[in-house]
Amino acid sequence: MAEPLFQLNNVTYHYPTGETALEGIDLSIYKGEKVALLGANGSGKSTLLKILDGLLFPQSGSLIAFGETVSEQTLGNEAFSFAFRRRVGFVFQNSDAQLFNSSVWDEIAFGPVQLGLEREEVVSRVEGVIAMLELDHLKNRPPFKLSGGEKKKVAIASVLSINPMVLLFDEPTSGLDPRTQRWLVNLIRTLNDAGKTIITATHDLEIVDQIADRAVVLGEDHRIAATGAVEEVLGDMDLLLRVNLIDEEFHRHLHGDGHKHVHAHG
Ligand code: ADP
Ligand code: MG
Repeated sequence: MAEPLFQLNNVTYHYPTGETALEGIDLSIYKGEKVALLGANGSGKSTLLKILDGLLFPQSGSLIAFGETVSEQTLGNEAFSFAFRRRVGFVFQNSDAQLFNSSVWDEIAFGPVQLGLEREEVVSRVEGVIAMLELDHLKNRPPFKLSGGEKKKVAIASVLSINPMVLLFDEPTSGLDPRTQRWLVNLIRTLNDAGKTIITATHDLEIVDQIADRAVVLGEDHRIAATGAVEEVLGDMDLLLRVNLIDEEFHRHLHGDGHKHVHAHG
């Protein structure tokens, strides 16, 4: 098998407050995969994404990305950091944490400008992403005055303009209306079809089979409870119950009534 893009070896992360977020994580992500990171609130999904993005560094264990060790030390090297940052894009759960420019156009141009691209290339990237995400009517607006759904689109645009090969999404559908959720699910599929590797943290089980082929499940003990094909993981009710992704009531309902309600909201 090809070498993984990301390889986590026995990764443990504790916050400075002493809070454990990840414990003994072994995980490989391959090029072109779309992976869902599942787990109850507080299981460690966001922390894992931050480690994959080189924003946090494990106290023990290691992360190898694109064949090289990612650490505070290696990311301190400007050339390494530059190469890493243009390969990995992170769409935060909270768009406000990602938007700080005075116009949508400048927001989307920020990454390409930081990469030192020629003005012409910057313009062509920004216009390309604006066309793809249908943001033309917003391009002169200040991002902080947009609706939640519009902010999410601009945050995604600001990441796509860097043209990373890996995209990390943290709870991307949370707080979005159904039409924008649908748009986002379709976008993830389109990007994956175009060859992007996509890792999405979510506890929204409804979207998982549409945005992922493989699921990685974190338990409340901050360890990997299971990893496997999405259908397999979503079909394992005892696992979902154990990791607190479904509750007792839902579980009983399913077992009592057969599976007729499982896809009721699809
Ligand atoms: P998830 O994204 O699955 O909800 P997180 O990765 O945010 O989980 O959190 C994992 C654990 O780390 C939780 O117990 C959480 O309370 C703790 N945690 C998260 N962020 C911080 C932080 N900035 N400081 C201290 N503890 C944190
Ligand atoms: Mg989270």
